[in-house]
Amino acid sequence: MSKKKSGRPHGHYCKICGEYKANEKFSGRGHATHICKACSRLSAAEKAEAQTITRLTNFPMGRLSANDKAWLENRLHDHRPEVAELAREVYNIHFPYAERNTRKKQLIINTLAFEIHTEVFDEYGDELPVNRRFTANRISRVLTMTDFDGDGVEQSMTLDGKKMSTLLRWAVHSLEIFMWPEDYDLIPSRNSIPPYFDLLPEYWPDEDEEADEDFSDEDVPEEEVCWRVQIEYANHTTQEIVSYQDYLMDRPEELYLALLEYFEPKIDDFDEEYTENAPLE
Ligand SMILES: [Zn+2]
Repeated sequence: MSKKKSGRPHGHYCKICGEYKANEKFSGRGHATHICKACSRLSAAEKAEAQTITRLTNFPMGRLSANDKAWLENRLHDHRPEVAELAREVYNIHFPYAERNTRKKQLIINTLAFEIHTEVFDEYGDELPVNRRFTANRISRVLTMTDFDGDGVEQSMTLDGKKMSTLLRWAVHSLEIFMWPEDYDLIPSRNSIPPYFDLLPEYWPDEDEEADEDFSDEDVPEEEVCWRVQIEYANHTTQEIVSYQDYLMDRPEELYLALLEYFEPKIDDFDEEYTENAPLE
């Protein structure tokens, strides 16, 4: 086998920083141990950390050997934060669903607020405007809905037994609500003011164009909130997810229809009941 491979970078490889450097960047001894002069000045701990980061940076992309996998898994719990963080990135590339599934097991929703301002197709294919807000509370088991196009009064009900827990578990385990920002590539929430609430009507922004021009902060998306989710988890973390895209993605729509079903059961159900109660011929 020829010693000079074509395509290989020029110079000598340093196993600590992972760079190919000119021969004069190595001392005689460093040349033999594959450590450049710059890296040789590092402490033993710094050398070890740099070498680990180099190994992670150059980690194989294909299927991992059992050894590589075990080594990588150990690095996830490395006491050096930079190492652990990089190991997590590499691990997530190799095992994209592992993190999702681990988080799923840990997440329990305490409260969920879901507001929606868009059009939704009904079962007849008609587009209906929707301006509603739902809240669900696992502890009190209270579910509420406010229809801003209706009377704007909050309706509420208390779900029986474990139904609330089941509903909120479904949001985590089936809808994977905590992954929506990544899955739908949403802009991080900027706590922008949603339409219709949190502000008294007299503070609502004017709708004339001059007022809009004053509102030209480029960081704030120009569109209105299409839907927004606010979640408090049992582990005391919170999550706010906002979409400004004026269409409803599949899982937010599923959530909407599931919540709506509690307050406005489908007419089909009524028909069935009607049929059941109809006198037999
Ligand atoms: Zn080096």
